[in-house]
Amino acid sequence: MFSAREYVKVNSLEEAWELNQKRANVIAGGMMWLKMGNGQKGTIIDLSGLGLDQIEESEEEFSVGCMCTLRQIELDPGLEREFGGVFRESVRHIVGVQFRNGATVGGSVYGRYGFSDVLTCLLALDTYVELYKGGRIPLGEFARMPYTRDVVVKIIVKKDKRQAAYASQRNTKTDFPVIACAVSRKADSWRIAVGARPEKAEYICLDGTGKTAEELAREAAACFSYGSNLRGSAEYRAHLAEVYIRRLAKELGKEA
Ligand SMILES: Cc1cc2nc3c(=O)[nH]c(=O)nc-3n(C[C@H](O)[C@H](O)[C@H](O)COP(=O)(O)OP(=O)(O)OC[C@H]3O[C@@H](n4cnc5c(N)ncnc54)[C@H](O)[C@@H]3O)c2cc1C
Repeated sequence: MFSAREYVKVNSLEEAWELNQKRANVIAGGMMWLKMGNGQKGTIIDLSGLGLDQIEESEEEFSVGCMCTLRQIELDPGLEREFGGVFRESVRHIVGVQFRNGATVGGSVYGRYGFSDVLTCLLALDTYVELYKGGRIPLGEFARMPYTRDVVVKIIVKKDKRQAAYASQRNTKTDFPVIACAVSRKADSWRIAVGARPEKAEYICLDGTGKTAEELAREAAACFSYGSNLRGSAEYRAHLAEVYIRRLAKELGKEA
């Protein structure tokens, strides 16, 4: 567990951003990840007074405040209605309910962790990150960016009539995934994200016209690179990715 010299519950995003420019200071989401680390921090920057813990829905998009918890996206009726069970399925294996009531969407997206189910799920949808200074940028671009000291304010998910589905495999319950796959389709335009390879999730877009689920899965899985670690080998991950993409494509109605 780390310790900190000061704690500030900020009154504005500007105050948060200014405090965060100092390398010793750190923004706190749910602190589930932060508290695994050691060492001395300067100021803990708490965003919980800024009303960023709401999921808002308009005709075009969902806006998920950075302080929303994983449990909120798991249970939100609007996300469930619009995207089927993809949010629920992507987070339900993450440790446990108590944990998901603490871990935030902002901390998960900012972290861009290799094992992230959350990043994998969001990359298969038309998702944007709203940064306080950097403005709105596509999540795929944000995922490739180096870490900066900006504040993640919201995550925007467009309502573009995509159907989506998610699957992950774990060696044991609550462990990090060995592979994480999210697939979405709009007509025969497919967007496929694979995470925990074990590198962080990336996505590709494919035209599925004239392809079977098997062909689509083979082509998609071959677009990603895979590595080995104690949870599984690169070969095993490549195999799993193809199997899960095929299953998800079938779940979304692609012909066998
Ligand atoms: C034991 C354990 C197991 C886990 N298993 C999984 C898993 O299986 N699948 C999965 O997807 N995830 C998993 N996670 C990750 C978890 O879901 C969260 O993504 C992680 O805890 C970060 O969220 P947090 O709210 O705790 O962020 P914090 O720990 O508070 O912060 C994490 C980082 O993000 C920064 N940050 C937080 N909010 C913002 C913001 N608004 N703007 C800018 N920077 C910000 C912090 O400064 C810090 O650098 C696991 C985490 C732990 C500790």
